[in-house]
Amino acid sequence: MNFGRPAISIFILIFKRQYSFIFILLFLSAQLTLRSHAEESERKPLRLYAFECGMIQMGPFLALLSTKFSDLYNKDNMRKVPTTCFYIQHPKGSLLWGTGLDDRYIKLEGGKKFYGGLSIHIVKKTLQTKLKEIGVSPLNITYVAVSHLHQDHTGNLHIFKKSKILLQKEEVEAGFGPFPSFYFFEFDHFKNIKHQIQKLDGDHDVFGDGTVTIIKATGHTPGHQVLLVRLPNKGSIILGGDLYHLKENERKKISPFLITYNKKDLQKSFSKIERIQKKEKAFLWIQHELSHWEKALKPPLYYD
Ligand SMILES: [Zn+2]
Repeated sequence: MNFGRPAISIFILIFKRQYSFIFILLFLSAQLTLRSHAEESERKPLRLYAFECGMIQMGPFLALLSTKFSDLYNKDNMRKVPTTCFYIQHPKGSLLWGTGLDDRYIKLEGGKKFYGGLSIHIVKKTLQTKLKEIGVSPLNITYVAVSHLHQDHTGNLHIFKKSKILLQKEEVEAGFGPFPSFYFFEFDHFKNIKHQIQKLDGDHDVFGDGTVTIIKATGHTPGHQVLLVRLPNKGSIILGGDLYHLKENERKKISPFLITYNKKDLQKSFSKIERIQKKEKAFLWIQHELSHWEKALKPPLYYD
């Protein structure tokens, strides 16, 4: 077959047109992608949701949170201590702070008993269900961070398989060292997430705009951390992890006597967070304090 010059020119013309067409398509799809990203950001302003992630009933065991055994021993027999988790929606992604008690405890009638029933962990609604109710899938969360690796904060770490997990390097070293139980860590909760961990070395601005910052506040455990969230309307909130367990600990600046890893460091962290709290005029949310949880906005309500 003879492709003469005219035929070749026509062929080149068609070829060029096809390419132009492809370029136009690529250009349009890029524009659409940019627009949809922009719309997504517009649709997702900074918000903070608070959840109860299981309730702990404590009897005399509560005394471990005090300096003097007699302070809290058997005062009102069983006391309710909530575990709280927080979901932060940010234009650039999302962060879950704390994963609470293990969702699987929901199947145990009367809850999971520890130390012969001195401490009972009760889950009535799973964290997965609570997230679903605000339209969030566990596989769609950018970051998960826990204040520390004690089991009442790590119960559901294993379900966030696509998230980066943000922990201080000292906490990771203790957790994956030879004796995680020495620190009261439950290795089973986090043994399969090592590849997802991003080790932090100090304070960390999560989204790079100063709105969500992890602050190292060690002492309770080797790499304990708290979270400062700067909200446009509500102002600044510090999610205190277990810096203090209860209001009483805060008031008396108490280092719990048995479960404090390093009392000196903990006292330094009390001062560090107090300084930030004053500077930011921040509300310090004591995550196990029942009165803080009772007054909290509950989903679908949120802080912004
Ligand atoms: Zn705790």
